[in-house]
Amino acid sequence: MSDSFDVIVIGGGPAGYPAAIRAGQLGLSVACIDGWKNYDGTYAFGGTCLNAGCIPSKALLESSELYHRATAEFAVHGIKTGAVSMDIAAMQKRKAGIVKASTQGILALFKAAKVTPLTGHGRLLANRQVEFTAVDGTKKTLSAKHVVLASGSTPAKLPGVPFDGDRVIDSWGALELAAVPKRLGVIGAGVIGLELGSVWRRLGAEVTVLEAMDAFLPMADGQLAKEALKHFTKQGVNIRLGAKVSAAEVGKDGVTVRYTDKSGEQALVVDRLVVAIGRKPYTEDLLAEGTGVVLDPRGFIVVDEHCHTGAENVWAVGDVVRGPMLAHKGKEEGVMVAERIAGHHAEVNYRAIPSVIYTAPEMAWVGLTEEEVKKSGRAYKVGSFPFLASGRARAMEATGGFCKVIAAVDDDELLGVHIIGPMAGELIAEAVLALEYSASTEDLQLTMHAHPTLSEALHEAALAVDRKAIDFPNR
Ligand code: FAD
Ligand code: NAD
Repeated sequence: MSDSFDVIVIGGGPAGYPAAIRAGQLGLSVACIDGWKNYDGTYAFGGTCLNAGCIPSKALLESSELYHRATAEFAVHGIKTGAVSMDIAAMQKRKAGIVKASTQGILALFKAAKVTPLTGHGRLLANRQVEFTAVDGTKKTLSAKHVVLASGSTPAKLPGVPFDGDRVIDSWGALELAAVPKRLGVIGAGVIGLELGSVWRRLGAEVTVLEAMDAFLPMADGQLAKEALKHFTKQGVNIRLGAKVSAAEVGKDGVTVRYTDKSGEQALVVDRLVVAIGRKPYTEDLLAEGTGVVLDPRGFIVVDEHCHTGAENVWAVGDVVRGPMLAHKGKEEGVMVAERIAGHHAEVNYRAIPSVIYTAPEMAWVGLTEEEVKKSGRAYKVGSFPFLASGRARAMEATGGFCKVIAAVDDDELLGVHIIGPMAGELIAEAVLALEYSASTEDLQLTMHAHPTLSEALHEAALAVDRKAIDFPNR
């Protein structure tokens, strides 16, 4: 192996591996260093997303949703099943298989793009040299014309609530549970709390989510958040807002969680406690003295809009830099950086990053919320369409939720799209494309949508913006 590369990427998650692959496709010599170690001691590329995040969580969401449908929804279709039971070991085995196929797929992609995978630890030295420590402890100094830092993030810790890997766990631990806890506590009603809380609730756990903020999903459109809370409550997910957790003690009867709310000091006893209060950028042992790379006060690597750090030809992408901690945001940044290293023009459109929460109903949005538009002072118009009025949603027994389109009054510019309902995460792609092309609501209105599809709901919401909806009364 050569010790010198055009590009060395440190971190093989969804930000780092696309950077490496695109750079390889562009004819550059590339190495990608990753040190992710699984519980069973094996090493795997793919980072948080493939090993302990997006992919395993969606596998469990799918299994638990199917179980829920079999127990609660099949009968209405006339399907008689008898007693339905859940084999948690089989569910976890399926998930592990999906994770393994996905992580091994990265090595195949690296081979096709001529990227050299290096399993171990990478540390940036001055002048774009990289100290690589292989898993057997041997060290080597590599050099590169460009270095891309993609070291990702780790779960934030709550002082007073230390992880013990058994009763008090992080999101990775919550993905690996071997049995359904009777009482599951979750700290944080964010994306992780809601997705993983939903998984274990559907499988039978009593789930209580403690959320410090008084508002539920404050980053989402208010109407969407209100609708979501209604559904979670109906599903029996007990969400306590304004509940600030300060401590937890592990005892023989479970974990006692101490929190304060507007009535004062409270305690909750659960069998397992998941701490999901956000994630922190990860830069431990990443930067030697004199690299010129600067961290901000919250620990993120400081970069410009093109993900270039303060050090010449050193770039940083993904969760370790500002912006939402989302796999697709990291991927776009990784690809942009590879393109720019190869001398091409490339940008990331940070105004069109979709958010998806994979619960049931699913939630997805892009652009501005109604609250943000109101605050901006720009005159706006809104159109909504409920899935209750969608023939496809009715056929699917999935009529909860709506599509909402927000547009500017002056030039009809599409400002935001908010969807809660079946397949929201798939439907939002049309809205992302519309924002990317700076579409107007009229563009959406004039686009033919197949019938009967869920996408018609978005079309009707766009029509409703100008009181032209056909399948629902315009108000
Ligand atoms: P990471 O995925 O964290 O990868 C960084 C990699 O770098 C790791 O493998 C790490 O071991 C390695 N590394 C770090 N330092 C070094 C070093 N010095 N040397 C060698 N290797 C190093 N996002 C979505 O968009 N959709 C989802 O549905 C979604 N679901 C999620 C569910 C859960 C439970 C969690 C926890 C997260 C989820 N996310 C989701 C967020 C998503 O996983 C992250 O945004 C994404 O993984 C960030 O990618 P990254 O490449 O920046 O970092
Ligand atoms: P989050 O920021 O979404 O939510 C954390 C929640 O914890 C917040 O609502 C916060 O108010 C609350 N909190 C903080 N301290 C608390 C305390 N002491 N007591 C009670 N509540 C407290 O973070 P997360 O859910 O941990 O997710 C981390 C990251 O992973 C997010 O940035 C998210 O984008 C990403 N992620 C994305 C997806 C997806 O795209 N579907 C899925 C999972 C995770």
